[in-house]
Amino acid sequence: MPKVEDNQENADICMKYCGPCLTYPGGGEALFCARGKSVAKPEKQGCNCGVCDVQKKYFNRNTYYCINGAASE
Ligand code: SF4
Ligand code: SF4
Repeated sequence: MPKVEDNQENADICMKYCGPCLTYPGGGEALFCARGKSVAKPEKQGCNCGVCDVQKKYFNRNTYYCINGAASE
């Protein structure tokens, strides 16, 4: 899968989707598809990555990056 750039624009987009997600671990973390899995060990309660604009921009298809790790891994 294409690697996602870790930049502010992508982080801002991410928070529109990860922010309200029930799985979101909080703690100021974001952009899991670029930065890798959360240190908070979140449990699956739904994932908004499938409709995220960052996901579309990089043609990625996976979900639960906060649990499974970055798109480049
Ligand atoms: S990566 Fe997916 S499951 Fe995790 S917080 Fe973001 S939208 Fe929710
Ligand atoms: S694909 Fe998921 S983790 Fe990546 S920016 Fe979008 S909502 Fe955040």
